[in-house]
Amino acid sequence: MLGHISKTHEPATCVVCRREGRPGEQFHYVTGLGAVCMRCGLELVECSSCGKRVKRITITVLRGRALCLTCYKAERERGEKRILKEVVADSLEALMKKVAESTPEGFRFVGVRLKTSSKTTWQAEYEREDIFEMRCS
Ligand SMILES: [Zn+2]
Ligand SMILES: [Zn+2]
Repeated sequence: MLGHISKTHEPATCVVCRREGRPGEQFHYVTGLGAVCMRCGLELVECSSCGKRVKRITITVLRGRALCLTCYKAERERGEKRILKEVVADSLEALMKKVAESTPEGFRFVGVRLKTSSKTTWQAEYEREDIFEMRCS
């Protein structure tokens, strides 16, 4: 549960109550929101997606929506930008064929590398088409 929460180093200003932290006071960083003091962090907020009431320090704000951990994970998976797929092939020819065949819909093949300590297992990387185009144009 602590994955996306980290302590901020400097005394920060709470984005919720605008109170400045005293030196040494613990603030929590909420992804997409900013630093919150413990009091605000422990307040219950409603998840924009499922409506569950959860502590503010456990939410992630994504495109303006506060999401609980479960919804955030679901959302992130749906919005995957890159996909890594393992492809087993013993020749370059077979590899390229398999890579092309296993391209997920809406994705572009961007690269391949041999899996660490393997001679036949490759990791093919695909990037979501819209991201790919944004980067290349
Ligand atoms: Zn606060
Ligand atoms: Zn939720």
